[in-house]
Amino acid sequence: MIADRFDLVVAGGALITPAGRIHANVGVRAGRIAALSDGPLEADDVIDATGRIVLPGAVDLHVHFNDPGHPDYEGWAAGSRAAAAGGVTTVVDMPLVCVPAATTVKALHTKREIASRDSLVDFALWAGLVPYNRDHLDVLHQEGIVGFKAFMAYSGTDDYPFVDDDALYEGLRRAASIGATVAVHAESEAITRARTQRLRAQGRRDRRAWGEARPPIAELEAIERLLVLARDAGCPIHVVHVSLPECVEAIRRARQNGQRVTCETCAHYLTLTEDDLERIGPAAKCAPPLRTALHHDGLWDALVRGHVDALASDHAPGPADGKTRGEDDIFEAWGGISGIQSALLLLLAHGVHERGVSLEQLAWLTATNPARIAGLWPRKGAIVIGADADLLVVDLDRAWTLTPDHLYSRNRHSPYVGRAFRGWFTHVLRRGSVIVEDGRAAEAGGGAFVPAQRGLASA
Ligand SMILES: [Zn+2]
Repeated sequence: MIADRFDLVVAGGALITPAGRIHANVGVRAGRIAALSDGPLEADDVIDATGRIVLPGAVDLHVHFNDPGHPDYEGWAAGSRAAAAGGVTTVVDMPLVCVPAATTVKALHTKREIASRDSLVDFALWAGLVPYNRDHLDVLHQEGIVGFKAFMAYSGTDDYPFVDDDALYEGLRRAASIGATVAVHAESEAITRARTQRLRAQGRRDRRAWGEARPPIAELEAIERLLVLARDAGCPIHVVHVSLPECVEAIRRARQNGQRVTCETCAHYLTLTEDDLERIGPAAKCAPPLRTALHHDGLWDALVRGHVDALASDHAPGPADGKTRGEDDIFEAWGGISGIQSALLLLLAHGVHERGVSLEQLAWLTATNPARIAGLWPRKGAIVIGADADLLVVDLDRAWTLTPDHLYSRNRHSPYVGRAFRGWFTHVLRRGSVIVEDGRAAEAGGGAFVPAQRGLASA
């Protein structure tokens, strides 16, 4: 029967679904998952996934493709190919470093046009919450954005000012009134600025000084303050790139007390420490900074216990000379780790193979829960009938070593070059189209804007 024929079948794999691991064939029709069956399915194309794991494509809540404005730092074409090669089939792009910053409807439209032309993967967008755009949050929200991003400390770029406590609180109140989520970079401006000035005045330029300028208390204090402000404002919040187990714990306690709050951590806080910053240099500079091995173990522990809500890359590549100019002065280096192509693969190599993270947990952390936080679920984030056929066929045991040749980013400064991995994507599918085959990404283009669904973001 013609009606029973599919465009594509992914056959024989072990699927990681919200209901657990099942052995079934996936029938894809018109870009969606149309059947999950243990019986044979007829199709024009078949991908043999026998002996393989099939994961939902990752949803990365935190990327900086810097386009429009700085396509030379990354851009949608290169960034989205790096994403695809890393198993990320939907990115949520941040509103800053691009020019203009996505703090107005016009700027959002410009970005959406460029991404619709150049992106290989599907995309959603954060809009900005800055001190001067509070009165425009409602019109921005109507554009199908995931929510608003605010900084509590200097953002690294002068055209994206941070919010002081008053501007943050008023912004949270405004966001709450329209049912929007606010994502926050939580570090104390007072502590990080004063410490940076003191260290630089002492002539410190070494790599350890970066971590000393942004100590754990600067992150913990800002998160506690944010929780108080958001609770009073009644606003759902998402705390980005949490680097410390004590911060995850503060957020978990707030949630237990009924507050609507989620958090993400990044692969670099799980796989690199302050010693790696010293060894690798500027390619491992980020904010919050890399922490100690003890913090890093605690963060793994929190993740394994299910206290972390999402894994994001905070992929933040910079200009070609951004890393070299920081070789002798860490404060001068570009801040931001280029990691979208490695994040999920690192979680497979170190989380699944070494730390007892189950594949079900991995799918929840990298796809299902981020899609829920972003309001993109159930269209994105899970292997269920009716969802987009965003699928990763995984050879769980293949061992390989990352070299610069693997990287699709425009500027290939990855802190993971030379690292041994275990786990590899044989196929990455975006809405049923193969966009990566055996590590090779397709040409850019074909990705679509995915509007956030109202009312799901805080589910
Ligand atoms: Zn970021």
